Amino acid sequence: MGIFGSDKPSKSEREYPVAKTEEEWKQLLTPAEYQVLRQAGTEPAWMGEYTETKTVGVYRCRACQTELFRSETKFDSHCGWPSFFSPLAEDRIEEIVDRTLGMSRTEVRCSACGSHLGHVFAGEGYGTPTDLRYCINSLSISLEPETA
Ligand SMILES: [Zn+2]
Repeated sequence: MGIFGSDKPSKSEREYPVAKTEEEWKQLLTPAEYQVLRQAGTEPAWMGEYTETKTVGVYRCRACQTELFRSETKFDSHCGWPSFFSPLAEDRIEEIVDRTLGMSRTEVRCSACGSHLGHVFAGEGYGTPTDLRYCINSLSISLEPETA
């Protein structure tokens, strides 16, 4: 699919509520965060700080601080990345079908700033309420533990 075959605006064309130049993002993020959030990189499996975290709280977008996921929807997927069966609210994330490399994968982005979070997979049989797995990079999110 070439650039003329897509009916969805690409990242650079769409306007997000939180708009910064790539230069500004570079200032704001570490090189590793920048590579994942702004260049759709993927952190190595099992290396992320939240892979097996069970702490109760809210996960925010590391780029713009929007609340994206709650710990109640995090589950043990044993896939090497933090996995959630649902976002905090559907409008917090943007899902974009990626058909490159002959496969169909659905990319997940923060709907406020357009940063890359990870991918979502359906029908894997994890037995969660949605049968969805939001496979999210630890580098894309930051946990705010709930204070009693
Ligand atoms: Zn964001």
